[in-house]
Amino acid sequence: EEEAALVRLCQRVCTGKEPEAASFYREQGNREFCRRGYQMALRLYSKAASHEPPSSPEVSVCFANRSAALFHLEHFEVCLEDIARAESHGYPDRLLPKVLLRKAECLLCLGRLQDAADALSVVESKIHMDGLMTSPTHQTLLKKLSHLKVKLHEKERCPEPAQEARGDMQGKSEIWEENDSISGASSSLSLNFDTERGRHLVASQDIMPGQSLLKEEAFVSVLCPGESLPLQDSETAWDTRVTNADLYCHRCLRQLLASVPCRGCSYAKYCSQDCADMAWEQYHRTECSLGALLLTLGVFCHVALRTVLLAGFAEVNRLVEWSHSGDKDPHNPKAGCKCLSETPEPGAGTRGIPGCDDSGQYHSSYQAVFHLLPHTEQHSPEHKFLCMLSVVAICKQLQEAGLHAAVLNQESSEQWPKTKTSEQTSDELSPELKTVAEAMLRHVLQLQCNAQAITVMQELGPGDGAVVNKKPVRLATAFFPVLSLLNHSCCPNTSVSFSGTAATVRASQPIPRGQEIFHCYGPHQCRMGAAERQQLLRQYFFECRCRACLDELESDVKSVVSMRNSFCCPSCQAPMQGEEDLLCCSNEACATSVSRENLSRRLQDLQQQIKKALDLLRDRKADQAIKMLLKCQMDAGNFLSPEHLLMGEMEDHLAQVYATLGKWQEAARHLKKSIGIVEMHHGPSSVETGHELFKLAQILFNGFAVSEALSTIHRAEEILSVHCGPQSAQIQELQEMKTCLSELPRSILQRT
Ligand SMILES: [Zn+2]
Ligand SMILES: [Zn+2]
Ligand SMILES: [Zn+2]
Ligand SMILES: [Zn+2]
Ligand SMILES: [Zn+2]
Repeated sequence: EEEAALVRLCQRVCTGKEPEAASFYREQGNREFCRRGYQMALRLYSKAASHEPPSSPEVSVCFANRSAALFHLEHFEVCLEDIARAESHGYPDRLLPKVLLRKAECLLCLGRLQDAADALSVVESKIHMDGLMTSPTHQTLLKKLSHLKVKLHEKERCPEPAQEARGDMQGKSEIWEENDSISGASSSLSLNFDTERGRHLVASQDIMPGQSLLKEEAFVSVLCPGESLPLQDSETAWDTRVTNADLYCHRCLRQLLASVPCRGCSYAKYCSQDCADMAWEQYHRTECSLGALLLTLGVFCHVALRTVLLAGFAEVNRLVEWSHSGDKDPHNPKAGCKCLSETPEPGAGTRGIPGCDDSGQYHSSYQAVFHLLPHTEQHSPEHKFLCMLSVVAICKQLQEAGLHAAVLNQESSEQWPKTKTSEQTSDELSPELKTVAEAMLRHVLQLQCNAQAITVMQELGPGDGAVVNKKPVRLATAFFPVLSLLNHSCCPNTSVSFSGTAATVRASQPIPRGQEIFHCYGPHQCRMGAAERQQLLRQYFFECRCRACLDELESDVKSVVSMRNSFCCPSCQAPMQGEEDLLCCSNEACATSVSRENLSRRLQDLQQQIKKALDLLRDRKADQAIKMLLKCQMDAGNFLSPEHLLMGEMEDHLAQVYATLGKWQEAARHLKKSIGIVEMHHGPSSVETGHELFKLAQILFNGFAVSEALSTIHRAEEILSVHCGPQSAQIQELQEMKTCLSELPRSILQRT
């Protein structure tokens, strides 16, 4: 019964290649291309390519079409890659001259004159070989050819000066000395263990804000398909919307421009053939045919499977057996080290700490992942049962699909005795798959407490404005065994940032020697009150005793968050009071009372209206969006406290709209108000404030408010380099702005 239900659920998700979908997407892409919607055309051609058979003339047409979109978007290098792909997959000969001319044009734009000349002579001989020159297409091709030749000669006569390499970019190098016994950790940290806190990291010397503490590559990561971003409305069978699955490489999480589709499914897409091949080798040859099942069961099951595949069967088997040996023999001296509630013998150093190897080293390895706490006893029986069903469903499908050998990391299926597989009834898992299932179940349970989200700053809206509005989004779910050593605090002393699948943890404040290093698992004191945080932290099976929680729970003071995000009196705007369903005005002379439900409903309506205003902005109806937002502000002033986060968000949106209109002063005025509220909620040196200052810097830069722009850039730089490091994209952008401003002619500088 469960199986039938699962099969039905999986039918809603399709990861196979469908020829009709390919032609549908290609036609949509052509339509967008004609409308000069090159960005959309690019995405649609990628979707088309993912549905075409691999290495076919059909897929080569997709690549050739996509190269045209890339050319218009001036991504010349990537355009050349797509042309090479088209050529190697059997692009129809009669269409080739057009594509080769594009190649020459790309090379010309890139200043590779000799290559461009070579490419041109290839096209020329091709066109002449084809004989008849009377057809209109031939005529246009010839015209284009002679035009390109003229351009080439011009460029050869006056070559552009070579761009000066920018030296000051590498100016700031980071202090980094790796720890001897913990891979990816700074030498300023040490690994400790006690029964109360479990494993944790402590500063072994004084640490400066901004100093890198951990640099770790994920042991395993799986892209979350995520919500789809609106691309265009259509009522067709195939979705033209874009999701994270279309935007990022499924292996390295790099942003995709021209994706390479998986040879087997329409779901997996990669940044390059190299990534596609490596993913296939390491895990995707097993996962490919399970696509729909894995998407249906969710990302935790997928991470669990990929963890096992990356580890290899031998290692999985070794650790699963080792975990059994402890159960059978409680007197086994080695068993103690996997029982995490037992303190290792004093004086043993890190050797007795779970997850460490015999020499006391802690590495980002499968052994370390295996030792992350599964909290097997604390999960509810229902939850465990569901996890078990999911894991068994995956293993059964592996067995049925004949992927046994692939799971066991055997090169060919011949090594696996065929007689054995055919003897098995389909209801019984083979002993090897039972081991795999056991390990996977452990990983699914571990993920509840140890899953780390990889987030990126994603651009919102059409992305064609001068000011980039970015929001952090969850991109993937991963295991970081070293990062997992950090305990949670609602007021952490570190900040995490990601680049691809690598995480960097930096100190966000001075950390004196001996103090524990904390990381926030999600419930941060700026975002919610202590009660709500404790509720959320229950999934991690602990009660938070961090400084913020102790302060809030032990004193009777209401949390700062609930004070700031509170309602005010609709009649006199004084703060409203009361914990129950009825709220009363704090101004005794007023005596107004309103039900909490009433105010909550107004808040919801307001949020709906704001969403509509943002839709208007997306449809480029800026004037209407402004009107609507101003109305929302008026309305909000009647029942929300002036410090409410939503008040700040509205100011931020208004700034965004004015920026799209080029009204920089107006935009800056609104953004400054938003910054005031963000600072109040998150603190003046928080990463949130840093992002807002970054936006302000862009606006001031565009409005030529030079001196103010420079001081804002300076502040944003100071904050963001602490949280994201001096190499981050935002810091680089800030430095480019600074260089630009310093190169402005005096006349402009004096005007401001
Ligand atoms: Zn990649
Ligand atoms: Zn695939
Ligand atoms: Zn806390
Ligand atoms: Zn009142
Ligand atoms: Zn915060």
